[in-house]
Amino acid sequence: MKVYNTLTRKKEEFVPLEEGKVKMYVCGPTVYNYIHIGNARPMIVFDTVRRYMEYIGYDVNFVSNFTDVDDKIIQKAVDEGSSAEEVAGRFIEECKKDMADMNVLPATTHPLATKEVDGMIEMISRLIEKGYAYAAADGTVYYRTRKFKEYGKLSHKNIDDLQAGHRDIKVTGDLKEDALDFVLWKPKKEGEPYWESPWSKGRPGWHIECSVMSKKYLGDSIDIHAGGEDLIFPHHENEIAQSEAANGVEFSKYWMHNGFLNIDNKKMSKSLGNFFTVREVSERYDLQVLRFFMLSAHYRSPLNFSAELMEAAKNGLERILTAAEHLRHLLQNAPDVSLTEQEEALLKEGKTFEDKFRAAMEDDFNTADAISAVFELVKFINTNTAADHAKAFLKSLYGQLHTLCGVLGILIEPEEEILEKEIEDLIAERQAARKEKNFKRADEIRGLLAEKGIVLKDTREGVLWKRV
Ligand code: AMP
Ligand code: ZN
Repeated sequence: MKVYNTLTRKKEEFVPLEEGKVKMYVCGPTVYNYIHIGNARPMIVFDTVRRYMEYIGYDVNFVSNFTDVDDKIIQKAVDEGSSAEEVAGRFIEECKKDMADMNVLPATTHPLATKEVDGMIEMISRLIEKGYAYAAADGTVYYRTRKFKEYGKLSHKNIDDLQAGHRDIKVTGDLKEDALDFVLWKPKKEGEPYWESPWSKGRPGWHIECSVMSKKYLGDSIDIHAGGEDLIFPHHENEIAQSEAANGVEFSKYWMHNGFLNIDNKKMSKSLGNFFTVREVSERYDLQVLRFFMLSAHYRSPLNFSAELMEAAKNGLERILTAAEHLRHLLQNAPDVSLTEQEEALLKEGKTFEDKFRAAMEDDFNTADAISAVFELVKFINTNTAADHAKAFLKSLYGQLHTLCGVLGILIEPEEEILEKEIEDLIAERQAARKEKNFKRADEIRGLLAEKGIVLKDTREGVLWKRV
């Protein structure tokens, strides 16, 4: 399998650190609002990478954080007269609903920055001990960027060019030793949430959060670190500087970045007012259409969101769903007889589409070509299936379509209503798992229910649930 690595600017053969296992970290959203469709792109793209890796047999440990304390969250809380915790908690739940509707699997772990502050203080202390960081008189801790000799290796920037760019904007009264130094810990302002630390009452900088959460849940060295291309610099560059200086080993072997989503060929941005939330799109389309649209382009290319392209995605998806329905219909009365020679030969031909699909995905996750292979399979199904075909023949083709669509996160089965009894059983199992401190299973069950549109609320009186 070939993966494009931003670090080397090449497609490289993927070799995991540990055989059969993949450790993957994807930078998650800052939760001060509903997620927009730009945020949805890395979610969908890297969920598909995960699904493909699982399909070819890897055991994937997938971690994606929520940044639940930051200036924008605090500002929103001030505007609303609530707390940062309340704002973040609410939008994490909303984000999880959108993810479930886009068929994005819950991560193995979704850590929250605010719950990992101890680890951040520990890593910052280690960086100070090693001379990579220093506390200024006002209680801010900075990273000593020039001390990290490989700074710039991910974004392919030369540190002296960066220095020149920074000189103009150096603010007087700044307590940094050097304009390139960035913040690891910042003292609180009046009314802001804060944590105690050896340097000041305050909160961590954004970059240190990911270094610490990745280390805690995946270890010092991981296989893949991913996010949107805007994160290459400075966020991921700074993460490398922090993690490699603190841990003394390579942080991530592969770095993957998705291209940007534009609207009507213009950069989507909140200031231009030309952005859509996933929730808004869900009012007009099933979010499977949004997913299908995102996968219709290569993940590293820029992608333009427009009404025409969404309509095209909707039609394409319908073609696949219609073929699946046609097969289900035929299967109801198909004769339970053994395969004819002709059917055997057709199934062999059918398998070539799966080979094409795999070849496309093995080439740096070329989902556009993988979708073409699915369309070829659909055409093959439409021309080669009829009421007199053996059940085993139809089932095999259905299974193949189901599997390939499943790798793309496209569900072809009509959604089944989950029964109350099943919900209650899963909740009971989750409670038992929590009692045994098996939080992984407990989170998995919450995710499973979220996928089916069931949200849980833990209260003092027990667990309440509702359909959303
Ligand atoms: P943020 O909440 O801004 O940190 O973004 C969360 C994730 O969404 C990051 O991986 C960003 O790179 C990604 N992202 C934000 N806007 C876009 C966009 N317009 N297109 C693609 N990815 C984006
Ligand atoms: Zn990050």
